[in-house]
Amino acid sequence: MNMDLIESLETINWFETDWKEELSNNITSVSELKEYIELDSETEEKLREVEGHHPINIPRYYLGIMNPNDRHDAIRRLAIPEIDELVVAGEMGETTKDPYGDDKHDKGNGILHKYGYTALVVATEYCSMYCRHCFRKRMVGLPNDQTVKNFEKATEYIAKHPEITNVVISGGDPMLLPNDALKKMLNALRDIPHLNYVRIGTRAPVVYPVRFFDDELIELLKDFCNDKMLYMPTHFNHPDEITPEAAEAVRLVRSAGVTVNNQAVFLKGVNDDPEILSDLMNGLTKIGVNPYYLYQCMPVSRVRHHFQIPLKKGIDIVDEAKRSMDGYAKRFKFIMGHDIGKVEICGRSGNTLVLKQLHSRQEAPEETSRMLFYELTDNAGWLDDMKNIRI
Ligand code: SF4
Repeated sequence: MNMDLIESLETINWFETDWKEELSNNITSVSELKEYIELDSETEEKLREVEGHHPINIPRYYLGIMNPNDRHDAIRRLAIPEIDELVVAGEMGETTKDPYGDDKHDKGNGILHKYGYTALVVATEYCSMYCRHCFRKRMVGLPNDQTVKNFEKATEYIAKHPEITNVVISGGDPMLLPNDALKKMLNALRDIPHLNYVRIGTRAPVVYPVRFFDDELIELLKDFCNDKMLYMPTHFNHPDEITPEAAEAVRLVRSAGVTVNNQAVFLKGVNDDPEILSDLMNGLTKIGVNPYYLYQCMPVSRVRHHFQIPLKKGIDIVDEAKRSMDGYAKRFKFIMGHDIGKVEICGRSGNTLVLKQLHSRQEAPEETSRMLFYELTDNAGWLDDMKNIRI
């Protein structure tokens, strides 16, 4: 461990850092990680195995906002690999690599079309950070053939499907694409009349706000917003992520006319505490980010065992947290992004879990807006762990 290196992070002015050059300083291996954290030889060996399953990529900015040598530090848990990632399933139950059923809805050419009105374009597999809890672990950071190779072909598909009213450009993290690639994508979508709006899903404002201190980027977002609404779903999980740099990134994006919505993930050892959760949601409203979703952690291989919170415990935490949130802070929906569609976790009455389906697959539109009731057990963490008691 090199204390000078850790302390030097505090002296960097992120507002004046070149975003492309800085990416080359990311920590991308266990050997580099050893410069920042203590590792005994047994753990080091196991982390080398973890690295083979889900690569390491940590921006120096994000290292600078954590306590790298406290294994319980919430921010560290999100970025630094742990040997728990070697557990494929574990105490919370079975897992899958594709919990959201993305692969079934893959139309080829990097397009996923699960809900009639939304098309999702997988623009890249690269992210400025490879989050340890990522539900797309099966693809981020790994070479794969599911990213869009030809955006014009993807646009043709969208143009031919008038039922599509919005497009999500996702990944990976599309904001890590160069400005000219982003511009090309946005230009291809701006003239499709049946698209009401476009979303760019990104965690960069949180883990790599440096990306937004780029006038050319803000100008190109502004230019698109003159023709069509642009939304930016982002992913803050903890109040310590709301730094002056992250707040400035959000301010710049909003100044271009973009609406920023937050999609947090509910994670053990990160935000499973009423005070942390209310500080997060209240803090987001303060910087102009709308709390939109709180996702129940999906049963993802190498994630579920150490990150998923049992639903019963989780509902109680969310309910308690909401007592200290104002109306805007508690606008978010607590949801499961399940293979059947998005399901809102409304709450519990004793051991009866009350759910409402928000979105359904194209082939089952009648499932939208239905109420669902399940028998809640102490350890259930996912829909499939429980018995449906009434339809
Ligand atoms: S930025 Fe998003 S897609 Fe990329 S690793 Fe993190 S959670 Fe996954």
